[in-house]
This record gives sequence, structure tokens and C-alpha cells, in this order.
Amino acid sequence: MIVVLTKGISTHDKEMVRIYLRDRGFNIREQSFGGDTILGAAGKTTIDLRELGLLPGVERVASTSKPYELASRETHGEDTIVTVGALPGVKIGGSRISVIAGPCAVESKEQIRETAARVRESGAVMLRGGAYKPRTSPYAFQGLGMEGLEYMKLAGEENGMPIVTEVVSPELAVQMKDLTDMFQIGARNMQNFELLKKVGSLGKPVLLKRGPSATIEEWLLSAEYLLAAGTKDVVLCERGIRTFETYTRNTLDISAIPVVKGLSHLPVIVDPSHAVGIRDKVSQAALAAVAAGADGLTVEVHPRPDTALSDGPQSLYPEQFEKLMRDIEALAPVVGKELLRTPRTLAPGTVQAVPGTALPRNAGAVPPIAYSGENSSYTEQALTRIFGEDAERLQVSGFSGVFDAVLDGSASAGVVPVENSLAGSVHENYDLFLRYPDIAIVGELKLRVVHCLIADPRAEIESIQVIRGHPQDFAQCKGFLDKHPGWILEPSNSSADAAASIVRDGAIRVAAIAGEAQAQGLKILREGIETNPLNYTRFVIISRRENGGRAPIPPSLGSDKPNKASLVFSVSDEPGSLFACLKTMSDRGINLSKLESRPIQGKPWEYLFYVDVSIPPEEGIFDQVIEELKTKARDFHFLGTYRASL
Ligand code: PEP
Ligand code: MN
Repeated sequence: MIVVLTKGISTHDKEMVRIYLRDRGFNIREQSFGGDTILGAAGKTTIDLRELGLLPGVERVASTSKPYELASRETHGEDTIVTVGALPGVKIGGSRISVIAGPCAVESKEQIRETAARVRESGAVMLRGGAYKPRTSPYAFQGLGMEGLEYMKLAGEENGMPIVTEVVSPELAVQMKDLTDMFQIGARNMQNFELLKKVGSLGKPVLLKRGPSATIEEWLLSAEYLLAAGTKDVVLCERGIRTFETYTRNTLDISAIPVVKGLSHLPVIVDPSHAVGIRDKVSQAALAAVAAGADGLTVEVHPRPDTALSDGPQSLYPEQFEKLMRDIEALAPVVGKELLRTPRTLAPGTVQAVPGTALPRNAGAVPPIAYSGENSSYTEQALTRIFGEDAERLQVSGFSGVFDAVLDGSASAGVVPVENSLAGSVHENYDLFLRYPDIAIVGELKLRVVHCLIADPRAEIESIQVIRGHPQDFAQCKGFLDKHPGWILEPSNSSADAAASIVRDGAIRVAAIAGEAQAQGLKILREGIETNPLNYTRFVIISRRENGGRAPIPPSLGSDKPNKASLVFSVSDEPGSLFACLKTMSDRGINLSKLESRPIQGKPWEYLFYVDVSIPPEEGIFDQVIEELKTKARDFHFLGTYRASL
């Protein structure tokens, strides 16, 4: 039932309404909804609504149209965001996609530790694993029980990931309470009401799987049991339902995601592993779930699925999981979300925004960041990706508004796009840098391209000795190539040339780095091997330059040494003037990542050069080059130094 209170109701009257409801056995939740204060009241007793409607301060009383009240959007308009683990914890719900990963079952201390480290490295924010396994056959592996849970707790702690594990009885719930961060109610137990009541009463977050034959309403009523018992933190998990189809283990009910999100305020995640049951179909189903609006996923990953004691055939190899995470990261902005990531290497106690990753949730007071564009615009999404969802933000009009806000101190930094993979440079922003000499670039954010390792259909990864590809692609796949130090790298003019040479030579010891589209007639040995994500749009973070020198890097952007710089200059109209500038850089081994010329406004046939360069790690070289460039170039503008985006 919903009790809508009059605007400006006195504290006394509100308390009287609460007492009235409490005395009649109702659980009460206060919410603000569309400017109204409402009390959502859930209870077993029926009362005369007219009597309640006569109490002072009560504007209107309505019985909810749904049998589940606490789980319903009617009593709670805002999305619930569930926090799991020790504060700040991992959040599920809102604009983030939170991915839970781990094996079906905890099999040994080593297995869970190894899996935890692998999935964390790929960006999973929570660890899953069954210690008690409800198996269809009594002869199948039943789990390691409390011992397994101890191993899982250790693995979670070592990797900074809260854990979630299935609870199968009310007695075990009490025993497991202090070891797990979140309880999972398995599909088979969705309507085990005594279990729901006990688990709900323990106050811990609960992941509630949908029963294999449960309707959405039955599922939400089970959530209601948990909420009515006391917990506020319930995450719903669609894991496939039983249909007449036998090809897949279950049938993933994709439409349940938008339906449930309309009916309930609770976060909804998807378990593609149990839904599909076939390893090679899991990632597609996972991406479909993200596209349909899921708040997260729980995915089975095993370092050696062939030897897994349960659900090996549906468990992803860690490499497949890595690829899936990259795809989710690329897909997330399309549905207006960000993939929540645990920064890969974060020293304890440091607060660091690694462009391309989310800030830890307790990043502390991040000062306002200016941006121009609509809410949920790509610029805002970039801002969120860099500074975290909780960052204070200042929405201004136009890119010059961003520069103004940073200059006058109303924002400590700003985010603006400078390059788009389809449209090229955003010249307006380059021009603004020239108009605002006190503003500098202090960071950047990029997204990714997908590279594959492609070979003759008869080749296996073990048979490969030589890799052909464009040197730029070698650089983008450095992390992968470094894992195979024995491979010989043979540069090609392009990735297409590299792939064509494989067809021509028919050698099984040669592979090419190229895109999927170039793999026709060839075999893709590995997909998504690039170290760096695809660049749809490149954003830069701008800050106020101080003392005419380099811009100070805000602590929230990390204190890693800058390795990239952006410059703008023009040259005199005489032979070799541009060459002299470029030679200055080339002589010192400085790599140019961008060189673009653009007409100077008001000076026909004169050009400015936009240049991005790498900063060599050796001290002093870069400063010398800059000093020398100033003497050789005209209108030299130093836009800033920063860490290149991963
Ligand atoms: C599990 O997640 O390990 C599991 C057994 O899932 P479900 O209850 O959905 O079958
Ligand atoms: Mn399983």
C-alpha cells in the first residue's frame, strides 16, 4: 500500500501515521517520488484505507496494484543501488555494469586463488563460486562446504573482490554469514520460503536467481520475502528458464530484463553461463544482456574448464572472459552505462583515476569537473569513466564554457573531445587552446580497435613462430606479444598485407595481426589481442596551467610521469622549415603520434601543425627539444604533457 503525505506535513503528524501503520504490523519505507513524500507500507493485515486516509497529513492512500510492494517501483521510484562488501564496496545498479566472475564451484585453494587473480585482471569486481553445490545428481561433486568458503574468502581478500556464494539452508546461512559478502539464492531454492526469510533477516546483500520455471511475478514475490525479512539489498539474477527448447541448457529470457526493470527498482543482472550452458555461446548471450539493460553479469570462468568438477562445458577460459570484458567496455556507452572496473594495479591506499577505468568508489572529494553537453552525452560518459560516477560535475554551455570554468576556478578540470574516429579533429577545441594559453592538457581518454591473431586453417597457436603485422599493431598488441618472447616479428606495410601473405605462403608457422574482416579463409587463433582499447573519440582532460610551465596534474589523475605531449606551431614559409622542426624531434628519438595541418584563421595559406609526441623516459631530452623547437617554429604553443590513455 502507498500512503502519500501532504507537502509540508509536520514531523508529529508523520510520526503518528508511522505509529498507526506500525501498530498494525506494517513494515514502512519512506520515499520521495515525483516531489511527493510517500510511505510504502507492506504487511499481512488488511485495514480500512478510508480510516487511514482521514489521519492528519495523509493526502491519499492507494493499495498497490502489485502483490509485491517493497520490490515494486510503485513504492520506490529510484533505482536501488546495492553495495556489497566492506565500504566503499562494490556497487550494483545505476549507470554501471558490474561483472561477477569465478568458477562454478570452489575446487581447491589454488584453483579459486588462480581464478580470482585471472578474472580480477580482466576487470571483474566480485568473485563467485559455489561451496555448497545443489547438483541434479546426488553422485555429482557437492562442493567443499565451509572449507571451500574459507578458500574463497581468502582469494577474494587477496584480490580486493567481495565474494558471493550460494546458501542452501537456513542453518548454513547463519554459519556462512561472516565469511561471505553476499548470499546467492540458487534457482532451485527461489521459492524455499524458510530459506528466504532466514537469509533476508541476516541483512546481507542477496543475489536472487530466478527459478527455472518461475514467472516474473513469482520471482519478484520471492524478492519481496527477502525485503520483508529485513534486507534492503537484493539483486535479481535472470539465469534462463525452462522451455521446450533443448539445444541450450535453458532459455535466456532477455525480455525479462526490461520488464523487471519497469516493475521493480531492484538491480537486475544476468547469468549467461547457466542460461545457455554452452561455452561458445556464453559471450554472445552476455552481450545481449548488457544491450537489453542488465546492471551486470555473473559469469563462470575456470582456468582449465576441461578439468572442472562442475559446469566445465559452460565455463569460459580466462582469455575468453578477457575478450568479453573488452567487448562489454565497448558496448556499455551505447546503452548509457560504464563498465565498473577494478583498476589493474592500484597500490594500497592510493586514489588514482586511470583513464579508461573507473575510479574506486571512495575516491574522496573529487572537485567539480566541467563538461559541455547533455547528461549522458559521450562527454559526460567520458568524464564518468575518468573521474568516477560520484565525481562532482559542472555542466556548462559550449566548449568555451568548459575552458572558462577551468580558467576562473569554478571547475578544477574539464573534459573536452579533441578527435573522433569518424569525424577527425574537433578543431574548435584546438582553437580554444590557442585562445586560452593558461589552460593545458593533463590527461586523455581513448577507446579501442579489435585485433586478431590470424593464421592458416591448419595452424595452432603452438605451431606459430613468426608474426607479421603493421608495427603500429605490434605496439598495440605488445602485452600479448610479450607473453610469447620466442616469436619473431616481421613488419608489414599493413595488416591487410600481413594477412594476404599468410594466404600466399600457406605456412602454418606464420600468423598475422589483423582485423576479423581480414581473416577470410583463415583461422582466428585469438581475438581481441590488442593491449589498447578502440578509439571512437579521444577526450582530453584540461586544467589550469600554473607558473607558465607544465600543468600540474591533479592528484586524482595519478602521479605517473607524463609520456605524451601535445604541441601546436606554425613554421616560416621557406624550404625545410617544417622538416627542421620534425628533425629536431626525430634526432632525439621522439615519436610523433599525430601530425595534422590546419589553416590559420585570418591568414590565408598559412597553416598550424597539431602534433602529439611521446616523451622519452630519459630526463632532460624532452625539455631540450622543446627549447630548440621554440627557436625553429613560429607561434609555438605547448598544450601540455600527460599520460597516454591505455
Ligand atoms: C550457480 O550459480 O552456481 C548455480 C548453481 O546457478 P543456478 O542456481 O542458477 O542453477
Ligand atoms: Mn554452475
